[in-house]
Amino acid sequence: MSLERRRGRSRSIDEEENVEASRPLEPKVRRNHSSVFSGQSATILAIGVLFGYVLLPMVLVETHWGLFYNDVDVQFKVTPDPTRLLADVDIQARLMEDQKVLSSQSLPTSTSQTVMKTEKLPDHRRKKILVTGGAGFVGSHLVDKLMMEGHEVTVLDNFFTGQKKNIAHWLHHPNFSLVVHDVTEPIQLEIDEIYHLACPASPPHYQFNPVKTIKTSTMGTLNMLGLAKRVGAKMLLTSTSEIYGDPQVHPQYEGYWGNVNTVGPRSCYDEGKRVAETMMYSYKNQNKVDIRVARIFNTFGPRMHPNDGRVVSNFIIQALQNKPLTIYGKGEQTRSFQYVSDLVDGLHALMNGDYDGPVNLGNPDEYSVKEFAEYIKRLTVSNSEIKMLEKTQDDPSKRRPDIRLAEEKLGWKPVVTVEDGLTSTIKYFKSVLDEAGEIIPTGPGASKPQA
Ligand code: NAD
Ligand code: UDP
Repeated sequence: MSLERRRGRSRSIDEEENVEASRPLEPKVRRNHSSVFSGQSATILAIGVLFGYVLLPMVLVETHWGLFYNDVDVQFKVTPDPTRLLADVDIQARLMEDQKVLSSQSLPTSTSQTVMKTEKLPDHRRKKILVTGGAGFVGSHLVDKLMMEGHEVTVLDNFFTGQKKNIAHWLHHPNFSLVVHDVTEPIQLEIDEIYHLACPASPPHYQFNPVKTIKTSTMGTLNMLGLAKRVGAKMLLTSTSEIYGDPQVHPQYEGYWGNVNTVGPRSCYDEGKRVAETMMYSYKNQNKVDIRVARIFNTFGPRMHPNDGRVVSNFIIQALQNKPLTIYGKGEQTRSFQYVSDLVDGLHALMNGDYDGPVNLGNPDEYSVKEFAEYIKRLTVSNSEIKMLEKTQDDPSKRRPDIRLAEEKLGWKPVVTVEDGLTSTIKYFKSVLDEAGEIIPTGPGASKPQA
């Protein structure tokens, strides 16, 4: 072994010698160095040094001083150029003109009769707020409130159920941005708050593509939580009374865990929102993300999609056209209806308060579907008949929010009566009908995309 090592050592010495011997260039280069410093080369080198270190710097310094003095002349010595002053004045005038134009570019639409002017907030109070699903029914009203407060609002929407006309009046406002994007894909934005609403909400819409609905609630919420974590943003999820399923407790309070079918037609939405809630609290506990969770009960108002098939839009559109009001089942199931501005105030209070447990937001004013149909007929002065259709699967038999927690923690409760809310919603749908001519409301069976 030691012999081997010795052999190895002696071999390597030999090799080193061989290597040395096989490098004929090195000694040549070394030898050549000595010849570089011949008399002629030394002269060339001296000239190079003289030029590089003395002449060139002098030329540069001279040029620079020249420029510097010219600048000083322009700024301090020479009388200011009158055409330049005129240009400044012109720019100021143009800016003011632009501001005037911009502030009047919040165009009135059929849903907003007046031109909107927003608050001016100082930098330290103006937040960058992301509203996912901001082109939808609830989202667009929330955007109105946040814009009016003077914040910078970014709407992120894939326009699955949202409509551009819902946000058209903000498109040219300098504080507003629209990002056409799907929440199931990650995105990098710099923001302070996220209101995460993106998700179809009406049964025919969320049952249209159940796989997409579950992706939107799960992957979409994960992406938004990842974003919130990365930039330290506060995030609010719009969950739903559907997480209580077909409730066995009435009215529903936040501590009730629900009664949900995992494999029915509503499951993609109900279970999607349930797991979205779980994700919110996992990110809060594990990653200290500041979160808020709103459990929203049936909400109605202007900008509901005329074809979303929900009971309020269906009944109003049917009644206004004197078409039969379609009741699914016997109409004994109940719902409680809140007006959209109350919901928006509740979401805002929740986001800006300290309480981070789930909170019900709804109006406890409860109606059976049959009573509600009669009510709409009365308010629209309609001749429509009432038509009973087959009951839909897993349709919750009763629903009414217990809102004591919201009252206690947020100081919030609904202030708009169902009648006042319906009156403005009926007015809205009248204008939509005037534009459209005729609307055939979406029925109970959701159409499915082909495989
Ligand atoms: P909506 O269908 O009018 O709005 C949803 C918005 O999300 C639309 O603009 C739609 O285009 C967008 N969207 C859907 N999938 C998306 C995706 N993958 N990526 C990006 N954008 C997407 O519904 P809404 O009534 O305004 O509901 C808003 C939120 O409130 C939803 O999260 C819903 O679950 C919740 N909610 C609403 C009610 C209600 O009665 N309106 C009740 C309970 C909960
Ligand atoms: N509904 C109805 N006729 C319609 C639309 C809905 O009878 O044209 C019923 C529906 O079966 C449910 C209630 O009205 O019991 C509320 O339905 P909606 O789709 O508005 O919301 P949900 O609370 O079921 O999500």
